[in-house]
Amino acid sequence: MDQATIDWHARAAAARFDGRCLIDGQRREALAGETFDKHSPIDGRRLGAVARGRSADVDAAVAAARAAFDSARWTGQPPAARKGVLQRFSEKILGARDELALLETLDMGKPIRWSLAVDVGAAARTIAWYAEAADKVYDEIAPTGPNALALITREPMGVVGAIVPWNYPMIMAAWKLGPALAAGNSVVLKPSEKSPYTALRLAELALEAGLPPGVFNVVPGYGHEAGEALALHMDVDAIGFTGSTRVGRRMLDYAGRSNLKRVYNELGGKSAFVVFEDFADLERAAKTVAGSLFFNQGESCNAPSRVLVHASVAERFVEIVAAQAPAWQPADPLDAATEMGALVDETQLKTVLGYIDAGHAEGARCVAGGRQARVESGGYYVEPTVFDGVSNDMKIAREEIFGPVMSIIRFEDEAEAVKVANASPYGLQASVWSDNINRAHRVARALRAGTVHVNQYDEDDITVPFGGYKQSGNGRDKSLHAFDKYTELKTTWLRIDPI
Ligand code: NAD
Repeated sequence: MDQATIDWHARAAAARFDGRCLIDGQRREALAGETFDKHSPIDGRRLGAVARGRSADVDAAVAAARAAFDSARWTGQPPAARKGVLQRFSEKILGARDELALLETLDMGKPIRWSLAVDVGAAARTIAWYAEAADKVYDEIAPTGPNALALITREPMGVVGAIVPWNYPMIMAAWKLGPALAAGNSVVLKPSEKSPYTALRLAELALEAGLPPGVFNVVPGYGHEAGEALALHMDVDAIGFTGSTRVGRRMLDYAGRSNLKRVYNELGGKSAFVVFEDFADLERAAKTVAGSLFFNQGESCNAPSRVLVHASVAERFVEIVAAQAPAWQPADPLDAATEMGALVDETQLKTVLGYIDAGHAEGARCVAGGRQARVESGGYYVEPTVFDGVSNDMKIAREEIFGPVMSIIRFEDEAEAVKVANASPYGLQASVWSDNINRAHRVARALRAGTVHVNQYDEDDITVPFGGYKQSGNGRDKSLHAFDKYTELKTTWLRIDPI
Protein backbone atom coordinates (compact mmCIF):
# COMPACT_ATOMS: atom_id res chain seq x y z
CA MET A 1 0.00 0.00 0.00
CA ASP A 2 1.22 3.50 -0.79
CA GLN A 3 2.36 4.87 2.55
CA ALA A 4 1.20 8.39 1.64
CA THR A 5 -2.39 7.19 1.38
CA ILE A 6 -2.44 5.19 4.61
CA ASP A 7 -4.71 6.57 7.30
CA TRP A 8 -2.11 6.69 10.04
CA HIS A 9 -4.60 8.01 12.59
CA ALA A 10 -6.73 4.92 12.13
CA ARG A 11 -3.66 2.73 12.43
CA ALA A 12 -2.57 4.61 15.55
CA ALA A 13 -5.97 4.06 17.13
CA ALA A 14 -5.64 0.33 16.52
CA ALA A 15 -1.94 -0.01 17.42
CA ARG A 16 -0.74 -2.59 19.94
CA PHE A 17 1.58 -1.48 22.74
CA ASP A 18 3.31 -4.20 24.72
CA GLY A 19 5.65 -2.69 27.28
CA ARG A 20 6.67 -5.89 29.05
CA CYS A 21 10.31 -6.92 29.33
CA LEU A 22 11.70 -9.50 26.94
CA ILE A 23 14.02 -11.82 28.86
CA ASP A 24 15.26 -15.25 27.81
CA GLY A 25 12.87 -15.28 24.87
CA GLN A 26 9.78 -14.51 26.95
CA ARG A 27 7.68 -11.41 27.40
CA ARG A 28 7.24 -10.81 31.11
CA GLU A 29 6.20 -8.18 33.59
CA ALA A 30 8.84 -6.58 35.78
CA LEU A 31 9.47 -8.87 38.75
CA ALA A 32 8.09 -6.33 41.21
CA GLY A 33 5.04 -5.90 38.98
CA GLU A 34 5.64 -2.16 38.62
CA THR A 35 4.90 -0.17 35.48
CA PHE A 36 4.97 3.43 34.32
CA ASP A 37 2.60 5.10 31.89
CA LYS A 38 3.88 6.06 28.47
CA HIS A 39 2.22 8.99 26.72
CA SER A 40 2.65 10.12 23.13
CA PRO A 41 4.32 13.50 22.63
CA ILE A 42 2.07 14.01 19.60
CA ASP A 43 -1.07 14.70 21.61
CA GLY A 44 -0.44 13.52 25.15
CA ARG A 45 -2.46 10.33 24.56
CA ARG A 46 -1.63 7.45 26.92
CA LEU A 47 -0.13 4.65 24.86
CA GLY A 48 0.16 2.02 27.55
CA ALA A 49 1.91 0.73 30.64
CA VAL A 50 5.60 -0.07 30.39
CA ALA A 51 7.42 -2.47 32.71
CA ARG A 52 9.50 -0.56 35.24
CA GLY A 53 12.58 -2.74 35.18
CA ARG A 54 14.83 -2.60 38.23
CA SER A 55 17.95 -4.40 39.35
CA ALA A 56 16.16 -7.75 39.84
CA ASP A 57 14.99 -7.63 36.21
CA VAL A 58 18.45 -6.64 35.02
CA ASP A 59 19.89 -9.55 37.05
CA ALA A 60 17.49 -11.93 35.31
CA ALA A 61 18.33 -10.53 31.86
CA VAL A 62 22.08 -10.65 32.47
CA ALA A 63 21.79 -14.21 33.81
CA ALA A 64 19.89 -15.23 30.67
CA ALA A 65 22.45 -13.49 28.46
CA ARG A 66 25.32 -15.16 30.30
CA ALA A 67 23.69 -18.59 30.11
CA ALA A 68 23.12 -18.12 26.38
CA PHE A 69 26.73 -17.11 25.92
CA ASP A 70 28.13 -19.96 28.01
CA SER A 71 25.97 -22.49 26.19
CA ALA A 72 27.53 -21.30 22.93
CA ARG A 73 24.14 -21.57 21.22
CA TRP A 74 24.85 -18.32 19.43
CA THR A 75 28.52 -17.60 19.79
CA GLY A 76 29.37 -21.19 18.91
CA GLN A 77 27.54 -21.12 15.60
CA PRO A 78 29.68 -20.75 12.47
CA PRO A 79 29.84 -17.12 11.36
CA ALA A 80 27.89 -17.99 8.20
CA ALA A 81 25.05 -19.34 10.33
CA ARG A 82 24.99 -16.18 12.46
CA LYS A 83 24.95 -14.23 9.24
CA GLY A 84 21.86 -16.11 8.07
CA VAL A 85 19.94 -15.40 11.26
CA LEU A 86 20.85 -11.71 11.26
CA GLN A 87 19.90 -11.40 7.59
CA ARG A 88 16.48 -12.84 8.43
CA PHE A 89 16.27 -10.40 11.36
CA SER A 90 16.91 -7.54 8.95
CA GLU A 91 14.24 -8.86 6.58
CA LYS A 92 11.78 -9.12 9.47
CA ILE A 93 12.43 -5.47 10.32
CA LEU A 94 11.65 -4.46 6.76
CA GLY A 95 8.60 -6.70 6.77
CA ALA A 96 7.30 -4.84 9.83
CA ARG A 97 8.11 -1.43 8.34
CA ASP A 98 4.72 0.21 8.81
CA GLU A 99 4.22 -1.13 12.32
CA LEU A 100 7.70 -0.14 13.53
CA ALA A 101 7.50 3.30 11.93
CA LEU A 102 4.17 3.98 13.59
CA LEU A 103 5.44 2.86 17.01
CA GLU A 104 8.49 5.09 16.64
CA THR A 105 6.41 8.11 15.65
CA LEU A 106 3.85 7.64 18.41
CA ASP A 107 6.55 7.01 20.98
CA MET A 108 8.87 9.95 20.34
CA GLY A 109 7.06 12.34 17.98
CA LYS A 110 9.03 12.27 14.72
CA PRO A 111 7.02 12.53 11.48
CA ILE A 112 5.77 9.23 10.11
CA ARG A 113 7.33 9.98 6.73
CA TRP A 114 10.78 10.03 8.27
CA SER A 115 10.21 7.00 10.49
CA LEU A 116 9.29 5.15 7.29
CA ALA A 117 11.95 6.61 5.02
CA VAL A 118 14.87 6.74 7.42
CA ASP A 119 14.58 4.92 10.72
CA VAL A 120 13.23 1.52 9.74
CA GLY A 121 15.43 1.21 6.67
CA ALA A 122 18.57 2.34 8.49
CA ALA A 123 17.98 -0.12 11.33
CA ALA A 124 17.44 -2.98 8.88
CA ARG A 125 20.45 -2.02 6.79
CA THR A 126 22.66 -1.87 9.88
CA ILE A 127 21.73 -5.40 10.92
CA ALA A 128 22.14 -6.67 7.33
CA TRP A 129 25.54 -5.00 6.97
CA TYR A 130 26.94 -6.56 10.14
CA ALA A 131 25.36 -9.89 9.14
CA GLU A 132 27.37 -9.75 5.93
CA ALA A 133 30.53 -8.82 7.83
CA ALA A 134 30.17 -11.81 10.19
CA ASP A 135 31.80 -14.23 7.76
CA LYS A 136 34.07 -11.80 5.96
CA VAL A 137 36.34 -10.38 8.62
CA TYR A 138 39.55 -12.36 8.99
CA ASP A 139 41.85 -12.61 11.95
CA GLU A 140 45.63 -12.11 11.76
CA ILE A 141 48.86 -14.05 11.98
CA ALA A 142 51.80 -12.03 13.23
CA PRO A 143 55.07 -11.94 11.25
CA THR A 144 57.09 -13.81 13.88
CA GLY A 145 60.12 -16.14 13.59
CA PRO A 146 60.19 -19.76 12.27
CA ASN A 147 59.76 -21.51 15.62
CA ALA A 148 56.48 -19.98 16.62
CA LEU A 149 53.13 -19.01 15.31
CA ALA A 150 51.28 -16.07 16.81
CA LEU A 151 47.56 -15.88 16.10
CA ILE A 152 45.82 -12.58 16.74
CA THR A 153 42.13 -13.30 17.04
CA ARG A 154 39.04 -11.37 17.99
CA GLU A 155 36.73 -13.00 20.49
CA PRO A 156 33.32 -11.80 21.65
CA MET A 157 33.30 -9.98 24.97
CA GLY A 158 30.48 -12.07 26.43
CA VAL A 159 27.57 -10.02 27.77
CA VAL A 160 27.15 -6.54 26.30
CA GLY A 161 24.89 -3.97 27.95
CA ALA A 162 23.44 -1.44 25.53
CA ILE A 163 21.88 1.76 26.86
CA VAL A 164 20.34 4.00 24.22
CA PRO A 165 18.51 7.34 23.91
CA TRP A 166 15.12 8.29 22.49
CA ASN A 167 15.97 10.43 19.46
CA TYR A 168 16.58 7.55 17.02
CA PRO A 169 15.52 4.62 19.18
CA MET A 170 15.68 1.90 16.54
CA ILE A 171 18.80 3.12 14.78
CA MET A 172 20.73 3.59 18.03
CA ALA A 173 19.73 0.10 19.13
CA ALA A 174 20.75 -1.35 15.76
CA TRP A 175 24.16 0.37 15.90
CA LYS A 176 24.86 -1.61 19.10
CA LEU A 177 23.07 -4.83 18.18
CA GLY A 178 24.58 -5.25 14.71
CA PRO A 179 28.25 -5.54 15.66
CA ALA A 180 27.64 -7.01 19.12
CA LEU A 181 25.48 -9.88 17.84
CA ALA A 182 27.49 -10.47 14.66
CA ALA A 183 30.59 -10.89 16.83
CA GLY A 184 28.78 -13.55 18.89
CA ASN A 185 27.93 -11.65 22.07
CA SER A 186 24.73 -11.74 24.09
CA VAL A 187 23.04 -8.39 24.64
CA VAL A 188 20.89 -6.75 27.29
CA LEU A 189 19.34 -3.59 25.86
CA LYS A 190 17.94 -0.80 28.03
CA PRO A 191 15.92 1.55 25.81
CA SER A 192 15.05 5.05 26.92
CA GLU A 193 12.02 5.26 29.16
CA LYS A 194 10.80 7.87 26.66
CA SER A 195 10.79 5.46 23.68
CA PRO A 196 10.68 1.80 24.73
CA TYR A 197 8.34 0.22 22.20
CA THR A 198 10.39 -0.38 19.07
CA ALA A 199 13.27 -1.96 21.01
CA LEU A 200 10.88 -4.51 22.47
CA ARG A 201 9.39 -5.22 19.07
CA LEU A 202 12.88 -5.61 17.56
CA ALA A 203 13.65 -8.30 20.12
CA GLU A 204 10.49 -10.19 19.17
CA LEU A 205 11.44 -9.99 15.50
CA ALA A 206 14.93 -11.28 16.27
CA LEU A 207 13.44 -14.32 17.99
CA GLU A 208 11.18 -14.94 15.00
CA ALA A 209 14.27 -14.76 12.79
CA GLY A 210 15.88 -17.57 14.78
CA LEU A 211 18.08 -15.76 17.28
CA PRO A 212 18.25 -18.17 20.24
CA PRO A 213 16.44 -17.12 23.44
CA GLY A 214 18.59 -15.22 25.90
CA VAL A 215 20.88 -13.76 23.25
CA PHE A 216 18.99 -10.47 22.96
CA ASN A 217 17.09 -9.28 26.02
CA VAL A 218 15.33 -5.97 26.61
CA VAL A 219 14.68 -4.42 30.01
CA PRO A 220 12.70 -1.18 29.81
CA GLY A 221 12.82 1.21 32.73
CA TYR A 222 14.31 4.41 34.06
CA GLY A 223 17.94 5.32 33.68
CA HIS A 224 18.68 5.64 37.39
CA GLU A 225 17.08 2.24 38.02
CA ALA A 226 17.41 -0.27 35.14
CA GLY A 227 20.18 1.70 33.41
CA GLU A 228 22.27 2.08 36.54
CA ALA A 229 21.79 -1.58 37.49
CA LEU A 230 23.00 -2.68 34.05
CA ALA A 231 26.02 -0.39 34.02
CA LEU A 232 27.00 -1.45 37.56
CA HIS A 233 26.47 -5.16 36.93
CA MET A 234 29.44 -7.35 37.77
CA ASP A 235 28.65 -9.82 35.00
CA VAL A 236 28.36 -7.32 32.14
CA ASP A 237 31.58 -7.19 30.13
CA ALA A 238 31.02 -4.03 28.11
CA ILE A 239 28.61 -1.12 27.95
CA GLY A 240 27.72 0.50 24.65
CA PHE A 241 26.17 3.76 25.73
CA THR A 242 24.60 6.48 23.60
CA GLY A 243 23.17 9.49 25.38
CA SER A 244 24.09 12.71 27.08
CA THR A 245 27.58 13.67 28.17
CA ARG A 246 26.22 14.04 31.71
CA VAL A 247 25.16 10.39 31.88
CA GLY A 248 28.23 9.26 29.90
CA ARG A 249 30.37 10.48 32.82
CA ARG A 250 28.36 8.24 35.11
CA MET A 251 29.02 5.24 32.87
CA LEU A 252 32.74 5.63 33.52
CA ASP A 253 32.07 5.95 37.23
CA TYR A 254 29.85 2.83 37.26
CA ALA A 255 32.61 0.86 35.54
CA GLY A 256 35.16 2.08 38.08
CA ARG A 257 32.87 1.13 40.95
CA SER A 258 32.14 -2.34 39.59
CA ASN A 259 34.16 -4.63 37.34
CA LEU A 260 36.00 -2.14 35.11
CA LYS A 261 33.79 -3.21 32.24
CA ARG A 262 34.67 -1.59 28.92
CA VAL A 263 32.69 1.60 28.44
CA TYR A 264 32.06 3.04 25.00
CA ASN A 265 30.34 6.40 25.12
CA GLU A 266 28.63 8.10 22.17
CA LEU A 267 27.60 11.46 23.59
CA GLY A 268 26.33 14.93 22.84
CA GLY A 269 27.39 17.49 20.29
CA LYS A 270 27.37 21.16 19.35
CA SER A 271 28.54 20.82 15.79
CA ALA A 272 29.98 23.78 13.91
CA PHE A 273 28.93 24.52 10.32
CA VAL A 274 31.46 26.95 8.86
CA VAL A 275 30.58 28.95 5.74
CA PHE A 276 33.32 30.94 4.01
CA GLU A 277 32.74 33.92 1.75
CA ASP A 278 34.31 32.06 -1.21
CA PHE A 279 31.58 29.44 -1.31
CA ALA A 280 29.49 30.49 -4.30
CA ASP A 281 26.26 28.57 -3.73
CA LEU A 282 25.19 30.26 -0.53
CA GLU A 283 21.63 29.12 -1.06
CA ARG A 284 22.61 25.44 -1.02
CA ALA A 285 24.66 25.93 2.15
CA ALA A 286 21.79 27.74 3.88
CA LYS A 287 19.17 25.21 2.85
CA THR A 288 21.42 22.37 3.92
CA VAL A 289 21.97 23.76 7.39
CA ALA A 290 18.25 24.38 7.87
CA GLY A 291 17.39 20.86 6.73
CA SER A 292 20.09 19.24 8.83
CA LEU A 293 19.24 21.17 11.97
CA PHE A 294 15.43 21.08 11.83
CA PHE A 295 15.30 17.43 10.78
CA ASN A 296 14.14 15.24 13.68
CA GLN A 297 12.98 18.44 15.48
CA GLY A 298 16.60 19.34 16.08
CA GLU A 299 16.92 16.28 18.30
CA SER A 300 20.04 14.93 16.60
CA CYS A 301 23.41 14.58 18.31
CA ASN A 302 25.13 15.79 15.14
CA ALA A 303 22.74 18.69 14.45
CA PRO A 304 24.76 21.64 13.08
CA SER A 305 23.55 23.99 15.77
CA ARG A 306 26.48 26.44 15.69
CA VAL A 307 26.56 28.11 12.29
CA LEU A 308 29.67 30.20 11.67
CA VAL A 309 29.32 32.54 8.69
CA HIS A 310 31.81 34.98 7.25
CA ALA A 311 30.59 38.49 8.07
CA SER A 312 30.61 39.61 4.42
CA VAL A 313 27.94 37.06 3.43
CA ALA A 314 26.12 36.75 6.74
CA GLU A 315 23.18 39.06 5.96
CA ARG A 316 22.26 37.16 2.83
CA PHE A 317 22.84 33.79 4.50
CA VAL A 318 20.60 34.65 7.45
CA GLU A 319 17.88 35.82 5.06
CA ILE A 320 17.89 32.49 3.20
CA VAL A 321 17.96 30.40 6.37
CA ALA A 322 15.11 32.37 7.93
CA ALA A 323 13.09 31.90 4.74
CA GLN A 324 13.38 28.11 5.20
CA ALA A 325 11.59 28.18 8.54
CA PRO A 326 8.00 28.00 7.17
CA ALA A 327 8.78 24.72 5.41
CA TRP A 328 9.72 23.26 8.80
CA GLN A 329 6.73 24.46 10.80
CA PRO A 330 5.76 21.65 13.14
CA ALA A 331 2.62 19.79 12.15
CA ASP A 332 0.82 16.54 12.90
CA PRO A 333 3.46 13.75 12.79
CA LEU A 334 0.83 11.28 11.59
CA ASP A 335 0.19 13.37 8.47
CA ALA A 336 2.39 11.87 5.74
CA ALA A 337 3.34 15.35 4.47
CA THR A 338 4.72 16.63 7.79
CA GLU A 339 8.44 17.47 7.91
CA MET A 340 8.84 18.43 11.57
CA GLY A 341 6.98 16.79 14.44
CA ALA A 342 6.79 16.93 18.22
CA LEU A 343 9.55 17.17 20.81
CA VAL A 344 9.80 14.04 22.89
CA ASP A 345 8.11 15.27 26.07
CA GLU A 346 7.20 18.23 28.23
CA THR A 347 10.60 18.28 29.90
CA GLN A 348 12.32 18.63 26.54
CA LEU A 349 9.81 21.30 25.51
CA LYS A 350 10.60 23.33 28.64
CA THR A 351 14.33 22.85 28.12
CA VAL A 352 14.16 24.14 24.55
CA LEU A 353 11.92 27.09 25.46
CA GLY A 354 14.34 27.88 28.30
CA TYR A 355 17.21 28.08 25.81
CA ILE A 356 15.16 30.36 23.58
CA ASP A 357 14.58 32.65 26.59
CA ALA A 358 18.32 32.56 27.30
CA GLY A 359 19.06 33.57 23.71
CA HIS A 360 16.83 36.62 24.05
CA ALA A 361 18.21 37.46 27.49
CA GLU A 362 21.82 37.36 26.29
CA GLY A 363 21.09 39.69 23.41
CA ALA A 364 20.91 37.37 20.39
CA ARG A 365 18.47 38.45 17.66
CA CYS A 366 15.66 35.98 16.91
CA VAL A 367 15.03 36.10 13.15
CA ALA A 368 12.66 33.13 12.87
CA GLY A 369 10.35 31.20 15.18
CA GLY A 370 10.98 31.32 18.90
CA ARG A 371 7.64 30.11 20.18
CA GLN A 372 5.81 27.03 21.24
CA ALA A 373 3.42 25.76 18.55
CA ARG A 374 0.28 23.61 18.28
CA VAL A 375 -0.52 24.04 21.99
CA GLU A 376 -4.11 22.95 21.35
CA SER A 377 -2.91 19.51 20.20
CA GLY A 378 -1.90 18.52 23.73
CA GLY A 379 1.57 17.68 22.35
CA TYR A 380 4.96 19.38 22.52
CA TYR A 381 5.92 21.50 19.52
CA VAL A 382 8.36 24.35 18.98
CA GLU A 383 8.76 26.52 15.89
CA PRO A 384 11.98 26.25 13.90
CA THR A 385 14.03 29.01 15.51
CA VAL A 386 17.01 30.99 14.25
CA PHE A 387 19.13 33.36 16.32
CA ASP A 388 21.51 35.74 14.59
CA GLY A 389 24.15 37.84 16.33
CA VAL A 390 25.21 35.00 18.61
CA SER A 391 28.62 34.97 20.23
CA ASN A 392 30.31 31.72 21.18
CA ASP A 393 30.22 32.48 24.88
CA MET A 394 26.43 32.65 24.99
CA LYS A 395 24.60 29.75 26.57
CA ILE A 396 22.82 28.87 23.29
CA ALA A 397 26.21 28.50 21.58
CA ARG A 398 27.92 26.58 24.36
CA GLU A 399 25.32 24.03 25.41
CA GLU A 400 23.58 21.28 23.49
CA ILE A 401 19.93 22.35 23.13
CA PHE A 402 18.58 19.26 21.39
CA GLY A 403 15.76 21.18 19.75
CA PRO A 404 15.12 23.21 16.58
CA VAL A 405 17.23 26.21 17.58
CA MET A 406 20.05 27.52 15.39
CA SER A 407 22.74 29.96 16.50
CA ILE A 408 24.46 32.05 13.83
CA ILE A 409 27.88 33.41 14.72
CA ARG A 410 29.75 35.79 12.41
CA PHE A 411 33.51 35.64 11.87
CA GLU A 412 36.09 37.79 10.08
CA ASP A 413 38.80 35.35 8.94
CA GLU A 414 39.81 31.71 8.73
CA ALA A 415 41.87 31.66 11.92
CA GLU A 416 38.96 33.05 13.91
CA ALA A 417 36.55 30.55 12.32
CA VAL A 418 38.71 27.57 13.29
CA LYS A 419 39.29 28.92 16.78
CA VAL A 420 35.59 29.46 17.44
CA ALA A 421 34.56 26.16 15.83
CA ASN A 422 36.96 24.28 18.13
CA ALA A 423 36.04 26.30 21.23
CA SER A 424 33.54 23.72 22.47
CA PRO A 425 33.74 20.82 24.88
CA TYR A 426 32.13 18.73 22.14
CA GLY A 427 33.69 17.36 18.96
CA LEU A 428 31.14 15.17 17.23
CA GLN A 429 30.87 16.63 13.73
CA ALA A 430 31.71 19.78 11.79
CA SER A 431 31.32 21.11 8.31
CA VAL A 432 33.32 23.48 6.16
CA TRP A 433 31.98 25.25 3.08
CA SER A 434 34.54 26.70 0.70
CA ASP A 435 35.27 26.61 -3.03
CA ASN A 436 38.98 26.98 -2.27
CA ILE A 437 40.36 23.44 -2.18
CA ASN A 438 43.35 24.42 -0.06
CA ARG A 439 41.20 26.15 2.49
CA ALA A 440 38.68 23.29 2.55
CA HIS A 441 41.42 20.76 3.32
CA ARG A 442 43.22 23.06 5.74
CA VAL A 443 40.11 23.75 7.78
CA ALA A 444 38.87 20.13 7.62
CA ARG A 445 42.19 19.07 9.14
CA ALA A 446 42.08 21.74 11.81
CA LEU A 447 38.55 20.98 13.00
CA ARG A 448 38.57 18.74 16.08
CA ALA A 449 35.63 16.46 15.31
CA GLY A 450 35.00 12.79 14.61
CA THR A 451 33.44 13.58 11.23
CA VAL A 452 34.07 16.62 9.06
CA HIS A 453 31.89 17.32 6.04
CA VAL A 454 33.11 19.44 3.15
CA ASN A 455 30.53 21.35 1.13
CA GLN A 456 27.72 19.09 2.31
CA TYR A 457 26.21 17.74 5.51
CA ASP A 458 23.95 14.98 4.22
CA GLU A 459 26.24 12.07 3.49
CA ASP A 460 25.93 9.20 5.89
CA ASP A 461 26.54 5.52 5.52
CA ILE A 462 26.92 2.44 7.66
CA THR A 463 30.37 1.92 6.11
CA VAL A 464 31.93 4.88 7.96
CA PRO A 465 32.62 5.29 11.68
CA PHE A 466 30.45 7.64 13.72
CA GLY A 467 31.64 9.13 16.99
CA GLY A 468 33.24 12.07 18.63
CA TYR A 469 36.36 13.78 19.88
CA LYS A 470 36.54 15.36 23.33
CA GLN A 471 33.37 15.16 25.43
CA SER A 472 31.37 13.76 22.52
CA GLY A 473 32.61 10.33 23.51
CA ASN A 474 35.05 7.57 22.71
CA GLY A 475 34.80 4.52 20.52
CA ARG A 476 32.93 4.53 17.24
CA ASP A 477 29.59 3.17 16.14
CA LYS A 478 29.11 1.89 12.59
CA SER A 479 31.68 0.48 10.14
CA LEU A 480 34.02 -2.44 10.90
CA HIS A 481 35.61 -0.31 13.64
CA ALA A 482 32.54 -0.96 15.80
CA PHE A 483 33.73 -4.55 16.21
CA ASP A 484 36.58 -3.17 18.33
CA LYS A 485 34.05 -2.31 21.02
CA TYR A 486 32.47 -5.73 21.28
CA THR A 487 35.47 -8.01 20.89
CA GLU A 488 38.60 -8.75 22.89
CA LEU A 489 41.89 -9.07 21.07
CA LYS A 490 43.66 -12.33 21.89
CA THR A 491 47.19 -13.42 21.07
CA THR A 492 47.84 -17.17 20.96
CA TRP A 493 51.46 -18.34 20.70
CA LEU A 494 52.12 -21.79 19.27
CA ARG A 495 55.54 -23.41 19.36
CA ILE A 496 56.77 -25.04 16.14
CA ASP A 497 59.57 -27.49 16.78
CA PRO A 498 62.39 -27.65 14.23
CA ILE A 499 63.09 -31.04 12.58
P1 NAD B 1 20.31 10.52 28.45
O1 NAD B 1 21.76 10.52 28.73
O2 NAD B 1 19.41 11.25 29.36
O3 NAD B 1 19.75 9.01 28.40
C1 NAD B 1 20.30 8.04 27.55
C2 NAD B 1 20.02 6.67 28.14
O4 NAD B 1 20.67 6.58 29.40
C3 NAD B 1 18.54 6.40 28.39
O5 NAD B 1 18.25 5.05 28.13
C4 NAD B 1 18.40 6.69 29.88
O6 NAD B 1 17.34 6.00 30.49
C5 NAD B 1 19.74 6.21 30.40
N1 NAD B 1 20.13 6.83 31.65
C6 NAD B 1 19.79 8.06 32.12
N2 NAD B 1 20.33 8.26 33.34
C7 NAD B 1 21.02 7.14 33.65
C8 NAD B 1 21.78 6.73 34.77
N3 NAD B 1 21.92 7.51 35.85
N4 NAD B 1 22.38 5.51 34.75
C9 NAD B 1 22.23 4.69 33.68
N5 NAD B 1 21.49 5.02 32.60
C10 NAD B 1 20.91 6.23 32.57
O7 NAD B 1 20.16 11.02 26.95
P2 NAD B 1 18.83 11.24 26.12
O8 NAD B 1 18.16 12.47 26.59
O9 NAD B 1 18.06 9.98 26.08
O10 NAD B 1 19.43 11.45 24.65
C11 NAD B 1 19.91 12.64 24.18
C12 NAD B 1 21.42 12.67 24.20
O11 NAD B 1 21.95 11.59 23.44
C13 NAD B 1 21.97 13.93 23.56
O12 NAD B 1 23.00 14.44 24.36
C14 NAD B 1 22.50 13.44 22.23
O13 NAD B 1 23.50 14.24 21.68
C15 NAD B 1 22.98 12.09 22.58
N6 NAD B 1 23.12 11.25 21.39
C16 NAD B 1 24.38 10.96 20.95
C17 NAD B 1 24.53 10.19 19.80
C18 NAD B 1 25.91 9.83 19.30
O14 NAD B 1 26.02 8.91 18.49
N7 NAD B 1 26.96 10.49 19.73
C19 NAD B 1 23.41 9.74 19.10
C20 NAD B 1 22.15 10.07 19.59
C21 NAD B 1 22.02 10.82 20.75
